[in-house]
Amino acid sequence: MAKRDYYEILGLSKNASDKEIKSAFRRLAKQYHPDLNKDKDAPEKFKEVQEAYEVLSDENKRKMYDQYGHAAFDNTAGSGYGSYGGFSSGFGFDDIDLSDILSGVFGQGFGFSSQSRSKGNRARKGNDTLYKMNITFMEAVYGTKKDFNLDLYDTCDKCNGKGGFNEKTCPNCNGSGTVTESQNTLFGSFMSKTTCSRCNGTGKVFERICSSCNGNGRVKKRKTISITIPAGVDTGNQIKIKEKGESGINGGPNGDVYVEFVVEEHPIFKRENNDIYMELPINVVEATLGCKKEVPLMKETIILNIPEGTQNLDKHKIKNKGVPYINSSKVGDLYIVIKVMIPTKLDKKQRDLFKALSETNLDSQDDFINKFKKFFKK
Ligand SMILES: [Zn+2]
Ligand SMILES: [Zn+2]
Repeated sequence: MAKRDYYEILGLSKNASDKEIKSAFRRLAKQYHPDLNKDKDAPEKFKEVQEAYEVLSDENKRKMYDQYGHAAFDNTAGSGYGSYGGFSSGFGFDDIDLSDILSGVFGQGFGFSSQSRSKGNRARKGNDTLYKMNITFMEAVYGTKKDFNLDLYDTCDKCNGKGGFNEKTCPNCNGSGTVTESQNTLFGSFMSKTTCSRCNGTGKVFERICSSCNGNGRVKKRKTISITIPAGVDTGNQIKIKEKGESGINGGPNGDVYVEFVVEEHPIFKRENNDIYMELPINVVEATLGCKKEVPLMKETIILNIPEGTQNLDKHKIKNKGVPYINSSKVGDLYIVIKVMIPTKLDKKQRDLFKALSETNLDSQDDFINKFKKFFKK
């Protein structure tokens, strides 16, 4: 299969800046990272992206690539400039920490079982938890206080978080936590050290596993968490509640709880950033002659002066009656959008009145037709 162009892989043009290259790499590495993307093509794509990044992020390699293309790095081509033969195993992650990328996606690693990563007795922070909270339109605009329940992992009371009873030295590794194995390969045999699978590197095992937590040392417990929601939040906004999440491991701090808001729609008020829009229906007569209308806003009722000759979709701006900016004294505006309702059911009297009206010299489409006529004469 022919190798794809490195710029094409990263979706960039040939004169992309270093910053663009880095950000494209970050985005695509997230997208195709095999831990996050279960697609069967993902590992291949991920590798492709890494390779492209390794070359384009290195000034010298990029120059070579720009000049000679893939041949610049192809040993088998026997070219004189093949000083970059093949790729080393390290794929240029020195300046980008993968855990940083993952945490960018998940706060700090949602979805990773703490057990699967447990190695030794190192103190570790508990996992972060994401909680999606539905709030009403008014709660989002004016802020509120809420309590909510979460089932979170916490220390098992029965075994005090140890996971079992009667601790003893692991017979598999004699307490060292690692086992040495010899591996036979084409190049000879090697001794390799691996973490002891029996004790998971702790060097200790229990005579009896705690049945309450199945040896995890932690069980799910229901916790009630309080949150103060500031005025002005919107769907997708998150608030971090520090160290209220899962309990830490081996004395590490608790994980954090991220609350993400989902704001319900309002039947009358629509939000656009910090402004609010509402429709006000008026009839043809009111629009034509003008009128005064009582309009209930979010918190108060105002009298709106609608001038003579108002058109459909005319807007009235009411200053500072919109949504507050979070942690600021600034407030958005409210717009009343006029909706002129054309009558659909007329009785005989009304119909006659409209007919009489149309016989008078009302502004009509004459102007419009004249413009057309002038245009076609030319
Ligand atoms: Zn237990
Ligand atoms: Zn062991």
